Amino acid sequence: MISPIFGSDARMRVSTGKATQSDGRMFTVVVEGFGVGLQRRAERRITVPFPQLQRLMQTIAQQGGRIRAISAGEVPEGTATEAPSPEAPAATPTPARKAPVSHADVPVNLYKPKDPFIGTVLGNYSLLAEGAIGRVNHITFDLSEGNLHYVEGQSIGIIPDGEDANGKPHKLRLYSIASTRHGDNCEGGTVSLCVRQLQYEKDGTTINGVCSTFLCDIEPGAKVKITGPVGKEMLLPPDEDANVIMLATGTGIAPMRAYLRRMFEPAERAKNPEYQFRGKAWLIMGVPKTPNLLYEDDFQRYLAEYPENFRYTKAISREQQNPSGGRMYIQDRVTEHADEIFSLIEDPKTHVYMCGLRGMEPGIDEAMTAAAAAKNLNWSELRPQLKKADRWHVETY
Ligand SMILES: Cc1cc2nc3c(=O)[nH]c(=O)nc-3n(C[C@H](O)[C@H](O)[C@H](O)COP(=O)(O)OP(=O)(O)OC[C@H]3O[C@@H](n4cnc5c(N)ncnc54)[C@H](O)[C@@H]3O)c2cc1C
Repeated sequence: MISPIFGSDARMRVSTGKATQSDGRMFTVVVEGFGVGLQRRAERRITVPFPQLQRLMQTIAQQGGRIRAISAGEVPEGTATEAPSPEAPAATPTPARKAPVSHADVPVNLYKPKDPFIGTVLGNYSLLAEGAIGRVNHITFDLSEGNLHYVEGQSIGIIPDGEDANGKPHKLRLYSIASTRHGDNCEGGTVSLCVRQLQYEKDGTTINGVCSTFLCDIEPGAKVKITGPVGKEMLLPPDEDANVIMLATGTGIAPMRAYLRRMFEPAERAKNPEYQFRGKAWLIMGVPKTPNLLYEDDFQRYLAEYPENFRYTKAISREQQNPSGGRMYIQDRVTEHADEIFSLIEDPKTHVYMCGLRGMEPGIDEAMTAAAAAKNLNWSELRPQLKKADRWHVETY
């Protein structure tokens, strides 16, 4: 039995079946348009042991059936379990259900670089505590004069003032939006970003990133050229019962902060009667030091108020050690919790979001590969299936 990870109700959605064959696990496939006669009109639930899953799915595909969901576990009480087809090769469980994300209404490119929106800076403050490494600021812009609106998970472009080395206007840089569609004041008409100043050494000189420095230094009242919004990769599913696993490093927390506000911030919940989140949200966050944790007070508040729905795991690389005695990175946390993460992924309602520096991807991939192998799954096959089902969301830069 998989242990419940968010309180006892987790078992309702993700549970293992009783072993009937050597593999032990059972999978329930919910299918439409499959079978003969009246069967084809009804939604059917077919439970098979793991070794028979692939053959069942092939048969469904051959007969034109549509798989609505696959989940690990027993059939819910009161649901008939049908006999599987006799043949039985082993396979990777396919999360075939397309998530109910409506992309059609998502605004994109309302403002283009040639005719950007001019936003006014409302606030700019440091998100870091004393002793932190680097500089990360939360910056809010007034959008009330125009038509720039967005949803959680999108980005906007910023065109910094000034010119590049060739005397041309600077090109835009993208930033993930850290606020919900209602803005930090929940009244609409604003957008917030979480920006880390890029700094690196070259030939003994400190180089400051053009746009990130422009933003971190900007004063309230300043006017800024804004484009967008863009992006449909990181949209949050509208399903209030979805499970959302969030893997973030550094400013990769920006879209996650927007999701978590939408899920748990009281004023946000009051604004969204159609979205009263009841699923499981699990944030796995990587930073170098404790003072670099971002939006920590808010997350602690959500933990206190929604212990059944919110889980928060930190990887603090310069303070914590992984089991081999090295620095604790986010991928070490993924490895540590691999069993629970994969149990959640087996639930078709689970989405995984990854955001942060591009360098985090290989480590996560390695951890997922090892975790999958431990469950007799092949990550290089499973990941594209999750992606196709709109359940694996990556934005790294
Ligand atoms: C979809 C998306 C979302 C993003 N969201 C965010 C966000 O939420 N927050 C955030 O802070 N950033 C975010 N970024 C990154 C952001 O767009 C900029 O790339 C970043 O702020 C740096 O821009 P800059 O103008 O300051 O740096 P630039 O002046 O453009 O300098 C960047 C260049 O410096 C060079 N460089 C960088 N590091 C080194 C090094 N160590 N050694 C040598 N050369 C180096 C590289 O050539 C690099 O292209 C996002 C990017 C994308 C694509």
